[in-house]
Amino acid sequence: MSKENQKVALVTGGIGGIGTEICKALIDQGRRVYAAHLLSEMEKAQDWKKEMAQSGYQVSTVPVDVASFDSCAEMVKKIEAEAGPVAILVNCAGITRDTTLRKMDLEFWRSVIDVNLNSVYNVTRQVINGMLEAGFGRIVNISSVNGQKGQFGQTNYSASKAGIHGFTMALAQETAKKGITVNSVSPGYIETSMTAAVPEDVRNAIVAGIPAGRMGKPEEIAHTVAFLAADDTTYITGANIPVNGGLYMSY
Ligand code: NAD
Repeated sequence: MSKENQKVALVTGGIGGIGTEICKALIDQGRRVYAAHLLSEMEKAQDWKKEMAQSGYQVSTVPVDVASFDSCAEMVKKIEAEAGPVAILVNCAGITRDTTLRKMDLEFWRSVIDVNLNSVYNVTRQVINGMLEAGFGRIVNISSVNGQKGQFGQTNYSASKAGIHGFTMALAQETAKKGITVNSVSPGYIETSMTAAVPEDVRNAIVAGIPAGRMGKPEEIAHTVAFLAADDTTYITGANIPVNGGLYMSY
């Protein structure tokens, strides 16, 4: 497909464990993909881009601090000037700063809320009018199983991820008649550097509690995101899709 006919997709946290696979899945779907990364990851992003190209994936990279509204505005302006309006947005940037509430200082609380939740406003606000004008948009917000069920040591993270789903349902109602779908995906425990940082004994205990008997793979999240981002996935909006190997079931 020529670049002119491709819809533009923006993936925040695009060079991370899950983001990388989401970028690949969206490129496979024929999208022109921008992977957003932290300014401090400039060198890593260049290496990542080269590796992606070597495996046949042409992808653009763009720096941003998703916790800053102005930085997000600048990023989207740059993408629009280069490639046109963003038609598909995947809000995937996220961090953890785990500790129990009795030890949690304000910085741990604020940074997680800023990067995981305020970012969803900061980025989506920049692209929503373009989507409304185009009469097409796909927004997929990466939440977490721990936003559904809570998790010891994660008041900040669980609150940020639960908040994402409130945003998803509200925006879905505002845009449902305009060709835009807004959904969240809630991964369970996925094999990435985020979970590699969890001590081995804790990880083993987590896996023992997963009905599927294993952690998930980033590709399994990417597959779900691409499904929601497809042109012909038109009637699912305001939904949360759990991808967790049965770890937490609800209806
Ligand atoms: P990761 O650490 O590999 O990737 C996260 C990315 O977020 C990083 O590449 C970084 O560039 C980006 N980022 C962090 N702070 C940023 C900021 N201020 N501005 C811009 N970018 C920033 O993590 P991952 O495991 O790939 O997680 C991706 C998403 O999936 C996160 O939102 C995470 O909360 C969620 N999630 C992960 C798991 C898991 O088991 N790995 C489970 C549930 C949910």
